[in-house]
Amino acid sequence: MQKVTLKKSALPAFRTLPAWIYGSQLESLPSSLEQGELVHLYSPKQEFLALGYINPKSQIALRILSFTQKSFTPEELKKRLQKAILKRESLLLKTNGARLIHSESDELPGLIVDSYANHLSLQINTAGMERFRPLILESLKELLSPLSIIDKSDEKSRQLEGLESSNGVIFGEVPQEILLQEEGARFGINLLEGQKTGYYLDQRQNRLLLAEMAKGRRVLDLFCNGGGFGIHALLKGAKEALFIDSSEMACEQVKKNLSLNQLENKGRIISANVFDELKRLREREEKFDLIILDPPSFAKTKEQQKGAMNGWKYLIIGAIKVAAPKARIALYSCSYHMGLNELAQVALEASRDSYTRLQILQYHLQDIDHPAILNMPHSLYLRGIVFEVLK
Ligand code: SAH
Repeated sequence: MQKVTLKKSALPAFRTLPAWIYGSQLESLPSSLEQGELVHLYSPKQEFLALGYINPKSQIALRILSFTQKSFTPEELKKRLQKAILKRESLLLKTNGARLIHSESDELPGLIVDSYANHLSLQINTAGMERFRPLILESLKELLSPLSIIDKSDEKSRQLEGLESSNGVIFGEVPQEILLQEEGARFGINLLEGQKTGYYLDQRQNRLLLAEMAKGRRVLDLFCNGGGFGIHALLKGAKEALFIDSSEMACEQVKKNLSLNQLENKGRIISANVFDELKRLREREEKFDLIILDPPSFAKTKEQQKGAMNGWKYLIIGAIKVAAPKARIALYSCSYHMGLNELAQVALEASRDSYTRLQILQYHLQDIDHPAILNMPHSLYLRGIVFEVLK
């Protein structure tokens, strides 16, 4: 196995047991290295540090697989798949949809597997993991006997790794609509056309936490996608819900989902840009008691953080303006660069500008099938704050 050497300046960072080593943290790489090849990482004093796979084309040059010298064999890969699946066993008693493999957080960097009623949605996003594709498919079939497997690999990540895009049904037949049962709620999942890997599984726990406080409330589900938040809230006794998403397809899905849960007459759906629609809601003097803001990531890089803060401020002020007395507002950021501190900071600015105090009620995180590992800061990517409006 070829060796790569960590720069002395990168040793302290390495001691925190990270998931990634950047190209800039490594001494110059041997030119013979192939994309995705397994390598040993050594210290400047030539002590063994870790085993990982390398991609000289990517900024994240090395993804660590282990801190021991033991090789990463097919058996080891299978063992890790099995371990990750077992970890979700109790969750799968409450829902038939879960992320089974969450990349680095399950010691399988570059691999994501979601299961929807045993139809698997797969992402292989790195060159190193791509090398194991046949083995992964074979093992998943053996461990889970899935009904189908669809490849929904992330094009952008693959591009950064110098890989071709990879999408489409790999095995079995994927139905037009799969029925997801999430703690008493039913959702239609369209894996063939839907966004992301199918559904936002990471918000499961947060939907339930908000639903607990929904009784009798008028809910405004902004950036609603399939309507997960609003539907759970309605099932727990919310008075009515207004769903807003700019995607026509998402709005169609909300309509179907309302009917799957026999909630047709409790939901209104508007297909529009939330930034514009908030203004119209205010003009119509509509008021809500539970407002959810779950936008897509506005800050994919650190440089975009300022723009993201401005967008967020506009949204929070808009939400405060349509909030009834004692309303609750939940904010979710799925961007690593917009953490709890940034969210709180921008909420404070919105509070100041709208002359309305906010009480902090709860902090929310991604659900446990998307494990956040302390040593890998990027793995904690979904954070939320629930406020009560003090007016
Ligand atoms: N709350 C959802 C997930 C939201 S994902 C859930 O629990 O499942 C973000 C959603 O925002 C996507 O559905 C996307 O179509 C929508 N979106 C993105 N930009 C938007 C905009 N400016 N106005 C309205 N919707 C937007």
